Amino acid sequence: MSVENKVIVITGASSGIGEASAKLLASHGAKVVLGARRESQLQEIVNDIKANGGQAVFRVTDVTNPADLTALVDLAKTEFGAIDVIFNNAGIMPTSPISALKTNEWNAMIDVNLKGVLNGVAAVMPDFTAQKHGQIITTSSVAGLKSFAGSGVYGATKFAVRNLMEVIRMESAQEHTNIRTTSLYPAAINTELLHTITDTSSKQGMNKLYAAVGITPDAVARVVDFAVAQPDEVNVNEFTIYPTKQA
Ligand code: NDP
Repeated sequence: MSVENKVIVITGASSGIGEASAKLLASHGAKVVLGARRESQLQEIVNDIKANGGQAVFRVTDVTNPADLTALVDLAKTEFGAIDVIFNNAGIMPTSPISALKTNEWNAMIDVNLKGVLNGVAAVMPDFTAQKHGQIITTSSVAGLKSFAGSGVYGATKFAVRNLMEVIRMESAQEHTNIRTTSLYPAAINTELLHTITDTSSKQGMNKLYAAVGITPDAVARVVDFAVAQPDEVNVNEFTIYPTKQA
């Protein structure tokens, strides 16, 4: 049971959970392919992985653009010969009460957190179906399991990807394609995610919560590593990751 030599595409790899996962997986011998919008951060992370003896490449990727996801998957195949896993992790969380009507932010969350995941799924599905092997990991959230005031649209996108992953799992079983699906439901993880909040009261509340209870993204990275390392016939498909201090 190992991630060694697995080719893993990771979106949202320029910080937080994606960065921590890329570094951990590469340190265990996986070949990681990093996508996000910020080129300098991606370059720095790839340099760091290589300096530690790992294998990594990156491509500037906007998950709202289907062609970018296709190009990222193509890069994995060109560089490393195949693709075993896509980790749909890119996300934004500009939470606010619905009454604030931040409709541009609603649309941005739908574009990144839901359509971005669909674009990732579409980019790998032809290869995964043909090779009858593959794993789709998606970062949902505890806000994809239960409702929180302020998380109306964020939670809607995270509930949506939960359903998507479960349906892919069921259809793969029916179609005998052996595609594994893993949904992650993290709670408060200290990353750059809160930077995307513009609503003052939401930001204050979240900052206070995370400062009090938040844990580092390595906690999620270790779960990703565990899920990828399982044998092909084993689909560990849901993980909730809470800080022990969070109620
Ligand atoms: P970060 O803000 O550190 O990471 C978010 C990542 O998404 C960045 O790499 C960012 O890179 C990328 N991203 C944002 N928009 C796009 C886009 N349009 N195209 C490509 N990449 C994009 O936060 P986290 O690590 O916390 O977030 C990772 C995931 O975890 C998200 O889906 C988030 O919803 C989820 N999550 C996080 C929790 C937490 O408490 N931190 C709890 C539950 C879920 P760039 O800006 O360079 O494009």
